[in-house]
Amino acid sequence: MTALQTATSFCIIINLLLCIVHSTNANELLQNEEFRLSSSIWPENYKLELLVILDPLPGYERFTAPAKSWTTVNSSEPVSVITMHAINLTINENAVKVKHLISGNDIPVTSVSYREEFHFVDIALGEPTVPLQLYEIYIEFITPISGDSLNGMYQDFYEDNITGQTRYIATTLFAPFHARRAFPCFDEPSFRATYDITLGHHTDYHAMSNMEIVESRLIDNMTVDWQWDIFAQTPSISSYIIAMIVSDLAYEEGPVDGFRNVTVRVYAKPESIQSGSGTYSAKLIGDVMTYFESLFEIQYPISKLFSVALPQFFFNAMENWGLITYKEPVLLYLPNETTEAERYRINYVLSHEKGHQWFGNLVAVDWWAYVWLKEGFATYYSHWGMNHTHPELAPWANFISKVMYVAMNFDSSNATHPLENFPPTSDAVAGIYTRIPYEKGASILRMANSMFTESVFLAGIRAYVRNFAYKSAVQDDVYEQLQESLNNSPLISSLLPTTVKVIMDSWTRKAGFPVLTVSAPSSSVLQITQRKYIDGDESNPDATWWVPVYLSPRPNLTLPDQFPDAWIAQDTTSVSVNIDTDQVVLVNPWGVGYYRVLYETRSLEQIVQQLNVNHELIPPTSRSKLLNDYANFVLTGYAEAEILIRMSSYLEQELDFLVWDGLYSTLETISNLLENTPVVQGKFKEYFGHKAYKALTFLEEKYTIDELEVGANSMLRSLLLKFACEFGEQECIYRSKQLFNDWDATKKIPLSTQEAVFCTAISQDNDGKVWQQIYNILTSPEHKRRFSPTNSRLIKSLGCSIKKDRLEMLVNEIKQRTFMVQDEVEVLLKMAKTDVGTRVLLEELGSHTELVTIFQNKQDWWTFMDVISSHLASDDDAAMLKKIAETLPSEMRIKVEDVIYGIDKNKSGSIVNSLVQAFQNAEM
Ligand SMILES: [Zn+2]
Repeated sequence: MTALQTATSFCIIINLLLCIVHSTNANELLQNEEFRLSSSIWPENYKLELLVILDPLPGYERFTAPAKSWTTVNSSEPVSVITMHAINLTINENAVKVKHLISGNDIPVTSVSYREEFHFVDIALGEPTVPLQLYEIYIEFITPISGDSLNGMYQDFYEDNITGQTRYIATTLFAPFHARRAFPCFDEPSFRATYDITLGHHTDYHAMSNMEIVESRLIDNMTVDWQWDIFAQTPSISSYIIAMIVSDLAYEEGPVDGFRNVTVRVYAKPESIQSGSGTYSAKLIGDVMTYFESLFEIQYPISKLFSVALPQFFFNAMENWGLITYKEPVLLYLPNETTEAERYRINYVLSHEKGHQWFGNLVAVDWWAYVWLKEGFATYYSHWGMNHTHPELAPWANFISKVMYVAMNFDSSNATHPLENFPPTSDAVAGIYTRIPYEKGASILRMANSMFTESVFLAGIRAYVRNFAYKSAVQDDVYEQLQESLNNSPLISSLLPTTVKVIMDSWTRKAGFPVLTVSAPSSSVLQITQRKYIDGDESNPDATWWVPVYLSPRPNLTLPDQFPDAWIAQDTTSVSVNIDTDQVVLVNPWGVGYYRVLYETRSLEQIVQQLNVNHELIPPTSRSKLLNDYANFVLTGYAEAEILIRMSSYLEQELDFLVWDGLYSTLETISNLLENTPVVQGKFKEYFGHKAYKALTFLEEKYTIDELEVGANSMLRSLLLKFACEFGEQECIYRSKQLFNDWDATKKIPLSTQEAVFCTAISQDNDGKVWQQIYNILTSPEHKRRFSPTNSRLIKSLGCSIKKDRLEMLVNEIKQRTFMVQDEVEVLLKMAKTDVGTRVLLEELGSHTELVTIFQNKQDWWTFMDVISSHLASDDDAAMLKKIAETLPSEMRIKVEDVIYGIDKNKSGSIVNSLVQAFQNAEM
């Protein structure tokens, strides 16, 4: 799933539970998890039959699915009460039957009861099961097709392009524990079983599930317009990746032989398919899958792979085996409208979901505590996929700014937790999708790939996938396979300080990461010391890790590429390295190490000088890491602001996207913190805004118009213009307004510049003309029917207004669901960037809770809170947030508590004051 983010000192309510969990032995804990199913009985096969009622039909309730299930179970010991998951299903208790399959005899069912707090249904038997003999549980029930939540089986819809009528779709989202809303089941990822699914529907629609249809026939006792579609039996599969869709969506098929003989299709609204927006992905899917099959050396086992763009979908995508669901903008591509940054996202999400076909689907996670084994791997290998199919997007270079910095920001916040993360309650399972399993998981795997060398790592991962196919795994299973692979390479093995498990446990079983301090006690020795990097999360301050140290230039050239040059052992705090060079020695030059690096004065001076004389002698990844580290050090008090200013003075020459991308959000945060001292903030914004605009001019001089619209150039151009205009650079603002005013059919706005141009036009719109112009386009009924990245950018730009009344109007439109679901969060994120927008949003969140429902994807909520938090500093703000927190579910509240903690921590204003002072005095 791609959804877009604990410890002792702040253990309050929910966090307290997490703390206990983290210090408890995992096995001990499992025994205490009363919300878990017993492992003494398990499903072997489900036969499911659902009749999907989408339109009014006499004798049936609309938006329900009357259903039957036959579940074959096995047991390891006598079981007298069979416990399954079921919630919000209407079960006909009197019709529940249990049959002993060898004898064919019915076993008496003495009661059917519920334990709602655990979503359990208990079926009590008159006699216990005989171990290792099969039984069949027959249940009749009615599945709701929910109209008010987007999980279980639920309603989706779109407006027909020609008639304007609403067309309904029944679809499912079962991750992580919502299959139980569609049918009674053993709804934990390790309970794999085969499924025989049959879906009944009106012939105005068609049905899809994980497998291909093997037979369609008319439904007895109904009109000829109703049919059953019977799907082939699935491989052994976890319940959360089952999918069922009844719709009239259209499709485009991928190229013939694009992916062996597997049928590849992209489904979307008919209008979107007609416009050709499925073509790009239909080809890309085949390319990525073909590559992954050769990379992992094991075939995708299903004969078809359908990808569906759902009109209303809160998540980026869901990796259901054989039937992947997406929101429109991450699957559909329009050549003249989709920007390169959006193409990057399409490639990333698509490749991530394909990675899940191996990590998560073929090899399941044993429990949600190990969700990083699927999300971290899918995020990591998505970059392999992208690099293979579209190297011009430079995924590995961008990994550090788009993945690692995101992970580090979350991992140093108060809301962080270890990668291995046992949810303490069944509700807490919903909160597992933070930045940790995704971005930190991928960052640690990338580091492991270098620590154990690429060939050893890949051989270990291939063995892991091969040996755990159709099973479920815990993290030790991965480590064992890696260790075995390592044992086959004695040379590499001899270069490592300890075992795979010991090294990996140090990174996966505790939160946070180190900062390395580099000093030079003599001209031929470097002393590198680790300590925990402290930002929001102040727990466990003495934590240490097995730290691989990477150096440039390398002291020992015989070591394999990107292999650590030295190690800091977990039980020591530092290491000395002999160096034999007058050059600047850089630590972590490729940004592979998951840590920050703080240099002592002399090294730092050399680095600053090198950047300003010829920055290209320092690799782009290193420049990005240096600037990102030091911008964060300024925020956390590890370094003086003056260093950051001097380090940045060369930036007008900087044309690497990952450097600017790694700086942008941290500088934005610093700028927001200076909000109450406008003179200092103005000076700060002028300095960096000017640098960004100069770099933009340099970029535009260097490349042709066409070259500027491709790959990293286009992404950089877009970012620099946004950066400079948001920082108030006057030429940037003038230019963007001109481009907007001249915009017509002949004078197009280059795609890479649209986001900044639209946003600037709205933020500078005093008389409201621009606002009205955009508003009219977007609230017209035609807009809703058409997939259009340009229109989405226009909607998003409305959030750039700095007029309170317009923003309030905008929030009302969002609450009334005027816009497409996928655009709503984007508008709110734009609003959160300004102080006035933040105030309007806080007021709204404080008095109504409807807005919260927009954030069904918790990663969006983390991002949103991060953005608004930089505007908040006062006691009143904290009090307002406390009030909001009380109304929120726990997985959302934890992030608000993190922000309150940040405000409280800064009560004396020390962070802001020191920033103000530093930038007031700095020569900029
Ligand atoms: Zn995922």
